[in-house]
Amino acid sequence: MMIESGEYPRVDSPVYRTQSGTAYLTHPGVTTLAKPALNDGAPSPFLAGFPTALGFEAATSDPTPLTSGAGLCKLAGQLCYMSFGPKRTPNAQASRYFANILGSGHGSVLEHATFSFLAYGISRSVTHELVRHRAGFAFSQVSQRYVSGQTLRFVERPEFQQSEDLHREFLDRIDRLAQSHARIETRLRELQDSGAEVLTADGQTGRRKRVHQAARALLPNETEAPIVVTGNVRAWRHFIEARANEHADIEIRMLAYAVFLCLRSLEPLLFGDYEEVPLADGTVAVSTVTPKV
Ligand SMILES: Cc1cc2nc3c(=O)[nH]c(=O)nc-3n(C[C@H](O)[C@H](O)[C@H](O)COP(=O)(O)OP(=O)(O)OC[C@H]3O[C@@H](n4cnc5c(N)ncnc54)[C@H](O)[C@@H]3O)c2cc1C
Repeated sequence: MMIESGEYPRVDSPVYRTQSGTAYLTHPGVTTLAKPALNDGAPSPFLAGFPTALGFEAATSDPTPLTSGAGLCKLAGQLCYMSFGPKRTPNAQASRYFANILGSGHGSVLEHATFSFLAYGISRSVTHELVRHRAGFAFSQVSQRYVSGQTLRFVERPEFQQSEDLHREFLDRIDRLAQSHARIETRLRELQDSGAEVLTADGQTGRRKRVHQAARALLPNETEAPIVVTGNVRAWRHFIEARANEHADIEIRMLAYAVFLCLRSLEPLLFGDYEEVPLADGTVAVSTVTPKV
């Protein structure tokens, strides 16, 4: 997996096709959709209301710029102790500031910065595990009840990619599945048109859902399940620690590693404490001495 750094980092995942045209992907793709945009000068009117002897103007004239996520979390943390004067940790020493936050477990300040990603090239097994993470996350996943087989794609596990016969079997299987899915959709529509009660619904959308919700029954875990995920820094850190971990399934480990690469590129101060640990299967785990803040 290669990260494309920049303002909105991403890890791309190419789409392959079987000879019959069934689409599949071989690893997660992650695209940064959104990140915080801190208004640096915003605290000035608030800080101006305190005695000038406290020197709070120092905080608003700090010459070292920070990334928005780090700046927002630092501001939130400084507010807790009204640390805006000359004795505050200046931005130039922000890494020391965040080491203290992580070391003391003051993780709630990390909840202010949220990042949104579109993840694709991940299977339904991965999203089933991903959505178990509750605190600090929002999910919007493709609806197999709403969308038709036209956008159906599959994800090949690394184990299958490395075995000639399992790879061939995967290609045959997804061709069969795609054909079977299309056949079932067609037949269900015919039955619906002929008045089958079990497929009856009001309106175009309702009728479509009746067909798709029945046809999806044959789709396997290896069906692609694109998802938009928004999480705050504290939640993302917990996710990365639990899933970019040697005990996690290889597929979600690859997703967590791709998300980690994007987040570290976006916010080195908030994700720079992680060490990469190459594993024997070719994937990478990450670990930190300050887990679960
Ligand atoms: C290697 C691995 C194997 C797993 N195997 C299984 C399995 O076999 N079966 C299975 O069902 N699941 C399994 N899981 C999923 C696991 O049990 C969790 O559901 C999932 O990892 C989400 O973790 P979390 O609850 O810590 O995270 P989040 O939901 O993101 O919560 C973050 C943290 O907030 C706190 N928190 C959140 N909600 C509550 C709450 N209601 N009450 C108190 N504190 C809360 C906890 O400290 C929690 O760690 C596995 C996970 C891993 C990483």
